[in-house]
Amino acid sequence: MIIRPETLLRPVPGGLYCPAGDFWIDPTRPVARAVITHGHADHARAGHGAVLATKETLAIMAARYGARFAGSMQALAYGERAAIGGIAVRLVPAGHVLGSAQAVVEKGGARVVVSGDFKRRRDPTCTAFEPVACDIFISEATFGLPVFRHPPDAGEIAKLLLSLSTFPDRCHLVGAYSLGKAQRVIALLRETGYDAPIYLHGAMQKLCDLYEALGVGLGDLRPAQEMMKTPLTREVFKGAIVIAPPSSLNDIWSRRLGDVVTCFASGWMRVRARARQRQVELPLILSDHADWDELTATVAELKPGQLWVTHGAEEALVHWAQTNGVPARALSLVGYDEDGAGERDEAEA
Ligand SMILES: [Zn+2]
Ligand SMILES: [Zn+2]
Repeated sequence: MIIRPETLLRPVPGGLYCPAGDFWIDPTRPVARAVITHGHADHARAGHGAVLATKETLAIMAARYGARFAGSMQALAYGERAAIGGIAVRLVPAGHVLGSAQAVVEKGGARVVVSGDFKRRRDPTCTAFEPVACDIFISEATFGLPVFRHPPDAGEIAKLLLSLSTFPDRCHLVGAYSLGKAQRVIALLRETGYDAPIYLHGAMQKLCDLYEALGVGLGDLRPAQEMMKTPLTREVFKGAIVIAPPSSLNDIWSRRLGDVVTCFASGWMRVRARARQRQVELPLILSDHADWDELTATVAELKPGQLWVTHGAEEALVHWAQTNGVPARALSLVGYDEDGAGERDEAEA
C-alpha cells in the first residue's frame, strides 16, 4: 500500500496527531498516547495515558512532575524501533538538551521527521543532531530570522571569564534556564579548565543532580543558599559564579549576593532591548536552538520532499525553503513557546 507522507501526521489543535497509529507528538493537552521529543515544559506535559520517550526525557519528566506523571512510560533508546498501531517510530538525537530526540515516523516507505527543538553546534551535555533523510521534515524555527546568528560558544564563555578576571571582587550571576542551558554553561566553563566551585540557586539543583546521575559531569557544584546566611559567608560570592533561573536575576534573592555582575545566557541576548529590559550587564549569546544558518543548512542538507515549519518565525524559513526549491508551509501550532521563550523559566532559548 502506498502511503502519502502528508497523511502520516496531521497538525491539529493540541499538536501533531498520527491518525493511523492514534498517537500524538508533544501534545499540548493530555492524550491517551504521546511521543515526547524532550523535557522542556512546552513539549513534555504531565497527565498523558502512555508516554514514549528516551530514558533521559522520562527521567527529566519524573524529576519535574513526580514519578507518576503518566499512566505508563516506555523508554526508547536512540535508533531503537517501536511500533504504535502499525506505525514505526524511532527517536534520533536532536542535540538540543540531554535526551532530546527527533521523532521519525514511518509507514509503507513514507517517512516524516519531527525535529522537536534542535541545534547543530556541539554541546558537551548531549548527543549531536543526526540528520535523517525524509519526505517531510517538521522543523522548529525559534530563531528563524536572518538576524539570528549565534556566535561561537567559546567566545561567549571567554567574555564571562574575562569579566571575572577584570572584576575579581564582584559576583557573576548568570541567568540560565534550568533544563539544558544551566548545565551547558557549567560544562563549557569546565572545558576551559575553570574548576572553582560554581554556586547554584535552589531551582537548579534537581536537574543538575539528574544530569550528573545520567553521566554528565559538572564538577564542584554548591548550593548558594547555604552561603547566604551571614555577611561573613557571603564573602565567598566575591569573584564566584552563581547560576540562577532568569526570573531570579533582579529579585530579592540576588540582592543577597552582594555586588553582582548580572549575566544572562540566551539566544535572545542578540536583541539589545531584551538585555536592557532585564538589566543585564553582560549578555551571553548561548542558545540551545538552531540559528538561521543552522536552520537553512539543515534544510539544504536534508532536501526533504516538504518542509513544515512550526514554533517561532515560520514565514521567513518557509519563504527561504520555497525560493530554494523545497515546498514548505507554516503550521501555526499553538501552545509552544516561541517568542516568549525568554520570559518563562521552564521554557528555553
Ligand atoms: Zn526545547
Ligand atoms: Zn520548544
